[in-house]
Amino acid sequence: MPKVPKWMADAMQSLFSGMYHPVQVTATEELEERLRRVRFEGDFSGSKRAFVPGNVIEFRVSDTEFRHYTPSYFDPKAGVCEVLFYLHGKGPGSKWVADLKVGETLNLLGPGGKIGYNASSQNHIAFGDETSLGSFACIEAEAKQQRHSFYSIAELDKENKHWPKALQLETTVVEKDKEMKAIETIRYLDGYLANYSREKASTTFYLTGNAKSISGVKKFLISRGFESKQIRTEPYWSEGKTGL
Ligand SMILES: Cc1cc2nc3c(=O)[nH]c(=O)nc-3n(C[C@H](O)[C@H](O)[C@H](O)COP(=O)(O)OP(=O)(O)OC[C@H]3O[C@@H](n4cnc5c(N)ncnc54)[C@H](O)[C@@H]3O)c2cc1C
Repeated sequence: MPKVPKWMADAMQSLFSGMYHPVQVTATEELEERLRRVRFEGDFSGSKRAFVPGNVIEFRVSDTEFRHYTPSYFDPKAGVCEVLFYLHGKGPGSKWVADLKVGETLNLLGPGGKIGYNASSQNHIAFGDETSLGSFACIEAEAKQQRHSFYSIAELDKENKHWPKALQLETTVVEKDKEMKAIETIRYLDGYLANYSREKASTTFYLTGNAKSISGVKKFLISRGFESKQIRTEPYWSEGKTGL
């Protein structure tokens, strides 16, 4: 529900009160020029759904608009949620994030979403872009805790290629090709999977970020013998579309 009339957005707040958690912004960090980490603290005890790494949350970023984001860290018991925001500067969500200030109170909706960590898998591979780095951090932490393997690959704009290192993420970085989506990732994965020694059947993929890139990578993985049910996808954005 990216955009709804104001009266509906107001009504939803009382109708779905179990999904709304009042939180306060307790810290903001400018990690890079267009990458901001924000810490939210609140009471999540009334949450209708337990958080699973990979799940997403939502914020009302204006009177009529909602935007999705992925916690990079979420501890509902301690009442702490952190998000890595990519400020692309092209929409109301980006502006809303840039303006967030410590002490501000707002509502966090969720958790929800299509992707969740598959604890029955031994190996976890995540693919995405600037918007996916929070999801990588959350899934990687869970994999470490479960003593599972984790590998991630990010296609990033040239000027952002150092971001995973700055975030201490062990992510393989390829440069984004704006015309031929996912081409560099597929080239890289071709070599990586040719030497893949882990059990293929116990591998789960998490594909997030750009819709076209996800589609290209998924097709490639299927062509390499992985099954659709092993590939969890959630497009985070698509050229020209607002608020997926
Ligand atoms: C389930 C889900 C989880 C997400 N998690 C995160 C997260 O953890 N961190 C995060 O930073 N983002 C995340 N996103 C992406 C974020 O919601 C989008 O970037 C969203 O477009 C931001 O809203 P906006 O109002 O700034 O831009 P919109 O109004 O939605 O879009 C305005 C324009 O910007 C373009 N645009 C959107 N995203 C990008 C981009 N990445 N690069 C270039 N152009 C873009 C759109 O195509 C459109 O033309 C997530 C999205 C979804 C659906």
